[in-house]
Amino acid sequence: MSAQLIEGKIVARSVKKALKPRIAALKEAGLTPGLATVLVGNDPASETYVNSKARTCEKLGMYSEVVRKEASIAQQELVSIVRSLNENERIHGILVQSPLPSHMDELAVTLTIDPAKDVDGFHPYNVGMMLIGRGDLLPCTPHGIIKLLEHYAIDPSGKEVVVVGRSNIVGKPVAALLMQKARMANATVTVAHSRSRNLPDITRRADILIAAIGKPEVIGGDMIKSGAVVIDVGVNRVGDDTTDKGYRLVGDVCFEECCQRASYITPVPGGVGVMTIAMLMENTVTAAERYLKFRPD
Ligand code: NDP
Repeated sequence: MSAQLIEGKIVARSVKKALKPRIAALKEAGLTPGLATVLVGNDPASETYVNSKARTCEKLGMYSEVVRKEASIAQQELVSIVRSLNENERIHGILVQSPLPSHMDELAVTLTIDPAKDVDGFHPYNVGMMLIGRGDLLPCTPHGIIKLLEHYAIDPSGKEVVVVGRSNIVGKPVAALLMQKARMANATVTVAHSRSRNLPDITRRADILIAAIGKPEVIGGDMIKSGAVVIDVGVNRVGDDTTDKGYRLVGDVCFEECCQRASYITPVPGGVGVMTIAMLMENTVTAAERYLKFRPD
């Protein structure tokens, strides 16, 4: 059996298409949704992400602002930048690109972002709202995964979902979303991590396996059950002299092997990654709509 590809590009395009009338309605009301991205340092991968976010905003007719700062910036200066973006009426979404330099306290910066503008969905207020099933600014990658499943009519209800990875930005929130008593949820969720014993025994239980490990090709074909849906969140660079860049991107899943046993599988790249930006745009539009609704006259 060869698995059907879950094509993030197609789903991301449909998410962005659905945003167009919402953006048009906001503009009609005199408001252009605006996203500010703060980039500290010059990590090449972060630079690529930030540029791609700004380009997507422009393509959708949204306002975008990128604040670039040296890695040596003091924490207090970054906090001041975020505070001024909180007050900026052109900005409805604020994203501080991670990772931040090691001298910075990432949580302290996140806590400074106005929860109403927290389009990453990382502020503890939004994390809490998500957990009680009332969030409207959901973390982008986990929400993107739900959208992928929805597009391919893969309803997690009643299914065994195994999430490998328990980070605050992917593993924990995707597990929390899938266990909700809600549409596109109601799954029986197991979360595995580096201390889990007998990982293959756990992953083989999964009707839907979500790998968010950050290590290349940890999940082999013998670790999934036949017919499983495999969602690969990982983006890992592995050396490859045959490419111009000297590396290629692979996921946390061994695609060649799992493709033979899975029913559906996401490619890397072109799977989950493209959804993250689409969901960021959706969150920015949602934040702008809420701003319009509640802004004082
Ligand atoms: P983290 O490093 O924060 O978390 C990795 C998790 O995997 C940890 O919980 C860790 O366990 C667990 N883990 C590590 N090794 C093993 C192992 N051998 N067996 C089982 N579990 C293991 O990573 P992130 O969640 O931030 O990211 C995961 C991947 O997803 C990365 O490749 C990242 O680049 C990618 N990513 C992609 C995005 C996209 O848009 N496509 C967005 C965000 C991330 P423990 O907790 O015990 O240390």
